[in-house]
Amino acid sequence: MESLTRPRVATVWLGGCSGCHMSLLDLDERLLDLAERMHLVYSPFMDIKQFPEHVDIALVEGAVANEDNARLLRLVRSRTAVLVAFGDCAVAGNVTALRNPLGDPMPVLARSYGTDTSRIPGVGANAGSVPPLVPKVHMLRSLVAVDYYLPGCPPPADLIFFVLSELVAGRTLNLQSRATLG
Ligand code: SF4
Repeated sequence: MESLTRPRVATVWLGGCSGCHMSLLDLDERLLDLAERMHLVYSPFMDIKQFPEHVDIALVEGAVANEDNARLLRLVRSRTAVLVAFGDCAVAGNVTALRNPLGDPMPVLARSYGTDTSRIPGVGANAGSVPPLVPKVHMLRSLVAVDYYLPGCPPPADLIFFVLSELVAGRTLNLQSRATLG
């Protein structure tokens, strides 16, 4: 019964390299401390496919790079009380948004796969094989309301622990002077 009263926490992986989640794992034994104070209900670390309802806190890594990212982000926002932009890609686009100055995804895809579109996943005859890229990568706040920004590439484990500890305890965060981009 006790676990039902703990805050329901999710971590979400959108268009990012997973380095932010690796930094979360760097909490090491402090993860056990957090596990006693929260209930992890969704994460790339778990075998769960559907984002659940009634989530108290969600850490969202990565920017919105494809249509699946956009759909999941809007679902997360609709089902989450406190949404945290987790890392520089979520906060400001960062590495994921480096393709934006090129105008649309095709120059990057052509550089990676060649100009023969029959070889490019998700394009032309390959449509549907992977989620379509959005024309421009978006930081989270371009699409949904964000409650807190947790910058860093990746955010340091000590800062992640501070943020999770405060939010799980139901306190309001003050990240001024504690968090910087990069
Ligand atoms: S902020 Fe850095 S570590 Fe996190 S997903 Fe983006 S590139 Fe990777």
